[in-house]
Amino acid sequence: MKPVTVPFFISHQGCPHACLFCDQRTISGSAGDLPSSGQIIERVVAWKQTAAGRPLDAAFFGGSFTALPWHAQKRLLAPLQPFLADGTIRSVRISTRPDYVTVDQLVRLKRMGVFTVELGVQSMDDEVLKRSGRGHTADASEKAIRHVKDQELSVVAQLMPGLPGDTPAASRESLMRVIRAGADAVRIYPAVVLAGTGLARLFQEGSYRPLSLGQGIDLCKVLLHQANRERIKVLRIGLQAETGLNHSTVLAGCWHPALGHLVRSALWGDLLDHLTAGVPDGAPLVIRCHPSIRSDVAGHGSGTIKRLRSRLDCRIVPDSALDLQTLALDFMDQRITGNLLTDLNYSLKEV
Ligand code: SF4
Repeated sequence: MKPVTVPFFISHQGCPHACLFCDQRTISGSAGDLPSSGQIIERVVAWKQTAAGRPLDAAFFGGSFTALPWHAQKRLLAPLQPFLADGTIRSVRISTRPDYVTVDQLVRLKRMGVFTVELGVQSMDDEVLKRSGRGHTADASEKAIRHVKDQELSVVAQLMPGLPGDTPAASRESLMRVIRAGADAVRIYPAVVLAGTGLARLFQEGSYRPLSLGQGIDLCKVLLHQANRERIKVLRIGLQAETGLNHSTVLAGCWHPALGHLVRSALWGDLLDHLTAGVPDGAPLVIRCHPSIRSDVAGHGSGTIKRLRSRLDCRIVPDSALDLQTLALDFMDQRITGNLLTDLNYSLKEV
């Protein structure tokens, strides 16, 4: 059964940095409080009641967990111990910076139930990291990933394509480097320009141009395809449309509340264009896909199907016998199949 994530947003107070793109100080306030033991317990109990028997994972998002003093980390994890012991909580996830990960920390965190460490890698290009004010190198990220793997914990790398100095080729190389280092999964958050950040200043001065929504979708499509080929999970594409992110706080960049859906739709749209190229105009066409990917295959607002209908008499039929990477197209007594991993190839020149 898929676990339900119980989220805890910790304040920025553990992080001594000021990355160019980060507005955590604005969102959480420099005096933001960590959740109390009582609040943590209350939240777990409440989420358990609505989880309908599904297991729970606790996740600490925001800020840099391991940059907090150890007594504060322990205070956050202690209330979860009884829930871990009785099986209410399956595992705990934390997010942090690569240069705040030590073997000692990991050993202690593992003892307190932490199983997944999310690392804000952002880029594996030192020039991009430097220009973004990250304060660490790509080597530090590689080392952190290896430390986490050595403790037999799961590691998720967060990547941020489109920062100053980044290119599509460098973004793809960043993805490949975290995969080679041992990342189990990635999150892809294309850079957005948030009001009040250093990035906003560069954008307003005209010295930084972020990825547009279209450019970001094209690049994320290539990254998603590459990750799929490498059998690496992409847990999320695009920042969550949570409080604080809206059209007045996001000044520019690749942001959309349904970015992941747009990217997956673009990928399936490309496969459908490739597969239908030889289907005669006006032919009745049945597109079969696994039910769980139907909306991505249809496209955002059914855009892909509407586009194909200008040429073909097509409809989508869910078919649970198909795997999650395959489409089967039936037309005029013929069937053709297409696989997302093997039938699509991308060149970065297209991005
Ligand atoms: S390390 Fe993370 S929390 Fe700290 S300033 Fe950078 S992005 Fe923000």
